[in-house]
Amino acid sequence: MAESDALPNPPPLAALIAGGAIALFLDFDGTLVEIAPAPDAIDVPVDLGRALEILDQKIGNRAALVSGRSLEDIARYLGKVEIARAGSHGAACQWADGRWLGAEPKGLSDAVVAQLQGFATDCGLDYEVKTHGGALHFRSNPGLAEPALTFAREIAASEGLTVKTGKCVVELVQPGADKGSAVHAFMAQEPFAGAIPWFIGDDLTDEDGFAACHALGGSSVLVGHRPGSLAQYSLPGVSSVREWLGL
Ligand SMILES: [Mg+2]
Repeated sequence: MAESDALPNPPPLAALIAGGAIALFLDFDGTLVEIAPAPDAIDVPVDLGRALEILDQKIGNRAALVSGRSLEDIARYLGKVEIARAGSHGAACQWADGRWLGAEPKGLSDAVVAQLQGFATDCGLDYEVKTHGGALHFRSNPGLAEPALTFAREIAASEGLTVKTGKCVVELVQPGADKGSAVHAFMAQEPFAGAIPWFIGDDLTDEDGFAACHALGGSSVLVGHRPGSLAQYSLPGVSSVREWLGL
């Protein structure tokens, strides 16, 4: 049995709210929406953005989306959702009203983008431009995972960049930010400061968020299963996450 199989379900959200101020950090793909064969093929309920705003109000405006997607990409699916959000694995953090938290993200150089796009075209992969970097998606061809990772690592080593891997995606990003740093950045400011933070996510990159929440006296919910996860609780999938959150 995988280690994460043994994780209990989290207490009901209502019980957490009744127990004191909480903050919720929510991953997007694989957590709030089902993973799709291609990143632009996700099925997003039309009212998800509004439902997240209502949840945000219920917990004192201490909900934040924390996604590997760029903020622009999230806005494409959720519209102008007025809750705090961190895109690009924490490299781009914004408040509900659009003000930046921390520095505006810096993208990759034109030369690196050209190399990544060339590789994607040659191999038939999807290349996604991100505010802070670039992503090679191989959901439609999982056999290209190793070549894509090798290529990304070579560029990262020569350009001083960081490689991040997710489900069927490898990304090159500017070093320094991760989902954990986004949690710390929000938690250092009102209205998040002093609340108990909870991170809910399914990806390897969410482990940084789990660790940050634990360091701040909070907790974590793994969506699905992963042996060795730091998470303290788990929920089996997207529908159970939405149910737990009341979305
Ligand atoms: Mg995810």
